[in-house]
Amino acid sequence: MTYQNYSLKQLQQIDASHHLHPFTDHRELREAGSRIITRAEGPYIYDSEGHEILDGMAGLWCVNVGYGRDELAEAAYKQMKELPYYNSFFKCSTPTPVLLAKRLAELAPKGVNQVFFGSSGSEANDTALRLVRHYWALEGKPEKNRIISRKNAYHGSTVAGTSLGGMEPMHKQLGGAVPNIVHVMMPYSYELALPGESDHEFGLRAAKAIEDAILEAGPENVAAFIGEPIMGAGGVKIPPMSYWPEVQRICRKYDVLLMLDEVITGYGRTGEWFAAQSFGIEPDTITTAKALTSGYQPLSALLVGDRIASTLIEKGGEFYHGYTYSGHPVACAVALANLDIIEREGLVERVKTDTGPYFAQALRERIADHRLVGEVRSFGLMGAIEIVKDKATRERFEGDGRAAVVVRDHAIANGLMLRATGDTMILSPPLIWTRDTIDLACERIVKALDLAEKDLFG
Ligand SMILES: *Cc1c(COP(=O)(O)O)cnc(C)c1O
Repeated sequence: MTYQNYSLKQLQQIDASHHLHPFTDHRELREAGSRIITRAEGPYIYDSEGHEILDGMAGLWCVNVGYGRDELAEAAYKQMKELPYYNSFFKCSTPTPVLLAKRLAELAPKGVNQVFFGSSGSEANDTALRLVRHYWALEGKPEKNRIISRKNAYHGSTVAGTSLGGMEPMHKQLGGAVPNIVHVMMPYSYELALPGESDHEFGLRAAKAIEDAILEAGPENVAAFIGEPIMGAGGVKIPPMSYWPEVQRICRKYDVLLMLDEVITGYGRTGEWFAAQSFGIEPDTITTAKALTSGYQPLSALLVGDRIASTLIEKGGEFYHGYTYSGHPVACAVALANLDIIEREGLVERVKTDTGPYFAQALRERIADHRLVGEVRSFGLMGAIEIVKDKATRERFEGDGRAAVVVRDHAIANGLMLRATGDTMILSPPLIWTRDTIDLACERIVKALDLAEKDLFG
């Protein structure tokens, strides 16, 4: 394979010489060389050695309509010719962010009607953090600025995103987080439920940790709670159904804003447009990005509820915040075309009534019994497989996450891209997957598990 006259080896060498990758051990990468993906079509990606790999991660949780969509390329081309860029500062606007904001307000849960654009999920969470603190300041309560988040949460990788997130290794490298953010337990029953505690009870207890944190700080000092409806990068941790309604009740009781980070769950992954609808809650802010354009362009949209928006508008005064690429016309044109595809092909409904339930059943019936598997779980088209050494005691393998990496490498070698975080295998496929694609993925997972079992047990 060559790419513009460069061989694969040359590309890997240049990559190693000049390119610092995200979330990477650079010494390790230089020893191994990177896997270079050169093209993609539908649900498949192709690497530089010509391997066809079924993409079980939709890129990085984002390519929900699959690869090779001419319509999205054409929307970008047309917009670039007409107006490649203009900003939305200084009382200016361009047509596509205007139309996209309207469209998102129509799709969003009740009481959410305003949109602030950025280019990434991290940026949108930075906006959300500043906006809720600004809100309370405008309301005359500047001291009500503490944010409650959760251990192991992922809210992006900027300083604000890392501070909001609860990933310890990231915090260790931060050299000082944004002040006044605290982290409580996550709603992850497989590891944290007490013996004999039902899922329902566990969900209520995990929500109570938020109430405890509010009371400890004093409600007059707490601005908001932020959470991913289903924790993504932290290992597809699906809360019991009792959790979110109780979190909402607690937030309302103490007049604490509810911020949802739907960067992964937004735009159909859970079988609704937003997971807020799946869990029946009405948040004050919803952070979205990733699948908004199916990853074809970098774009984020912070959806802002009426309560915050009306204060912002009524009290006036400039909100000193925004990005050069806020409301980028090309990215917004692509997002509009992407939403057209999702609607036209009924992908949200399909996840809810067909592929989501089929995926859950396939994991349960074909994967869960495997010797290496402690638990399978899924919601819509998000799934996880816990790798354990001992099913009964839930004991893990030595070397935190090593076993899952063995499974992952076998999966990739057998034509299925999935991700390992800690000892958890993660799946987040494009929403275009059919029952046949799910069958194919399951065959490859079983094969990878069998091969890993041989490696791990000898
Ligand atoms: C990916 C992600 C982010 C960060 O988005 P970027 O575009 O990488 O900045 C934030 N929150 C969640 C839940 C995510 O999955």
